[in-house]
Parts: sequence; structure tokens; C-alpha cells
Amino acid sequence: MSEAGNKLVTELIKGYYKFHRGLSPDKVEQREFAFGSFESKIAFRHMAFKRPADLDKYLVDNGPPFVDYSAAYYRLPDARPMEKKEWLGSELRFDIDAGDIVKLPCRLDHGKEWVCDRCLDSAKDEVIKLVENFLIPDFGFSEKELEVNFSGNRGYHVRVRNQSVLSLGKPAREEISNYIFGQGLDYDSFFYTVRVDARHERQMGPRPDDGGWRGKVANAFLGAARSKEDLTSLGIEKSVATKIFNEIATVRKQIEVGNWDFYSIPNRKSVFENLLNRQVINQGNRIDRGVTNEPSHLMRLPNTIHGGTGLVARKLPSMAALDAFEPLRDAIAFDRGEVKVRVGSNYALLLNNQTFGPYKDETLTLPTYAATYLYLKGLADVLTAH
Ligand SMILES: [Zn+2]
Repeated sequence: MSEAGNKLVTELIKGYYKFHRGLSPDKVEQREFAFGSFESKIAFRHMAFKRPADLDKYLVDNGPPFVDYSAAYYRLPDARPMEKKEWLGSELRFDIDAGDIVKLPCRLDHGKEWVCDRCLDSAKDEVIKLVENFLIPDFGFSEKELEVNFSGNRGYHVRVRNQSVLSLGKPAREEISNYIFGQGLDYDSFFYTVRVDARHERQMGPRPDDGGWRGKVANAFLGAARSKEDLTSLGIEKSVATKIFNEIATVRKQIEVGNWDFYSIPNRKSVFENLLNRQVINQGNRIDRGVTNEPSHLMRLPNTIHGGTGLVARKLPSMAALDAFEPLRDAIAFDRGEVKVRVGSNYALLLNNQTFGPYKDETLTLPTYAATYLYLKGLADVLTAH
């Protein structure tokens, strides 16, 4: 980072806010705001704004590299310590970050510091899973109550705008995230035996039309039964997998009535674990699910600039728009002019449908968005701006 680089980016950010006003969230006067610097994502917090125009002015005047706002509504959002803010309620939020996806294949190519279009596609898949497999069917939220925005760097944020979540305390929020991340699901509550007669028992389990996790487990199994390889990848022995695959119509009929007695699967419990793992949101065993669990959490304000990339934390107009959304094309903010930089980067940067790099310590002139992205990632020095 350099003084010239920081100055250039600050001017660009101010310029962006000059033309993008009205970024305030609902009930701006009840939100806590925090702002970051180039050195720290949250440099100062406990800020409040009475009116949307006050926030607009602050952003244009200061051009902060990061703008965060609280999930919470407070009577006195700038009071401190926290207890004095007088909590009125909090939105429910989820943070899906490509950096937390376990076994992301492209990470083997580029390590965990870099983010590529495949990382972002994987994060998008997890968002769709969160919405379509959990928030809508299991929690009953409607699509209109869900708001998705690109985080500005390596993932997405999902907000639930439903009155019923506002008053939830920390334990209830923890329960929601445990449910979504499949924590604490007990094998014995899914599978059990019933006695058929004096000598026979029958293995019973979930049906595909059961609600919640039971239906997910049954459907995941039936989905896997479409291929022998999928069945063996669940940990089912090859000979048993072949039998299930060959007799899937019969097996399906049995599962539909909750009868899982078809073949002896000795390691049923680990098969069950594998079925769960296929359905959970892939965000690792992140101990800190603070975004969802913590009612006072701060998160990037949608449509503001992410100071680690220069991209916009673009809010999507609807859930349906997510499919076609390409963050490395649709979240570009600094789309004018060029900047001369000295740049060394090991990976190709795909931005605005163009590839930049890799560069071996070269001096060249790049479009402003590419130059600032590489600068903010610590890979380029700003020489002069045009
Ligand atoms: Zn990647």
C-alpha cells in the first residue's frame, strides 16, 4: 500500500458515492454503522445517522474503504457500551464465503489468498442451496423476504427481512444455524427398528415426503441411487450398491413408506453421516458463525465499495437474478480511465470478461478497475492515474 495508491482509491470511492446516493438501509436512524480503513476493515464503529442524506454526505466526504451496518435496530445506535444502545431487534443474516468452502478444487491451483470465478460460482451454489433447500421450504420465508448481495470479495450475504425473526435472541439464532449446518442431528432419531413378529425386526427410516432433514436424507439417498458410483461414494459396499441400483424401483417403493430394510448395510451410520454432509451448506466447521448467531453483528452495507477489491457489494434485484449474476463482471465500480501500475501477480485475473496477468513484475497501464483490484490485493503499485 502507498500514499499515492490510497489517495487514488479514496478519490475513486468518493466519486462512486457522488453518483450512488440513497444507499441507506431501512430505518437508518436505528442502525449502528462502522467504517473501515485500508489497514483495518472496521477502524471505527458506534456511528449513527439520523437521515439517509446524512449517510450520503458522509460517504461522499470521506470515501471510506469499508462501510458496515448492524443487523440490529437500536433506540440509540451510537451509544456505548453496547448495552446502552437499547436493542429493538435484529435481522437474520447469513454469510457464504468461498474461503470457508471445504475441498474447493480450484484452491489447490491458487491457494487460499486468491479468489477466482470458480470460487465465486461455488459460493453462489451454496447460496442457492441455502435459499432453496432451507430458507424457503423449511423456514417458510418467501422469496420476496430474502435479499442477496455479493460481499464485494469472495462470497455472498443473505438477509431475511421477515418481522418474525427480529426478536430472536442468540440461542434461537444458534439453533437456526445448527439446523442449516446439520449440527446435532442424531442417527437414532432418523433410523430405528420395529418388531414385525417374534423373530423379525424391520429397519425403518425417513421418507422422501417427510419435512425438514428427514426428507432431505431420504431424497439424498434416492438421488445417489441413480448411479452405482454415487452409492459407493456414500460408503456402501460395491455388491450392495449394485443390488440397490439394479432394484431401484422396488427400493424406492419401500423408502416411500419408510421401510429401509432392503439390504444389510453394515455401516449405516457412516452412510447417514455422508448423506447429511451432501445436504448441508458447505461452510466448513466454522466455529464462528457469528454472522448468523450474533444479533449485534456488523456487515457490509449493500451497494457500497469493498476496499479490498474496489468492487461493489452489489445487491441483486431478486433471487432469480442470482443465476445470471457474474460478480467479476457485474460488480465493477471504477469503470472509467486507466492507471499505470507496477504489478507482479502469479494468477490470471478475470475481470470484466478480460484476463489480466499473470504478471512478472511489469510496468503497464491497466483499466482502473483492474489496477485498483490488483493494488488493493497488494500485488501492484500505483504509478500514475489517467
Ligand atoms: Zn478459485
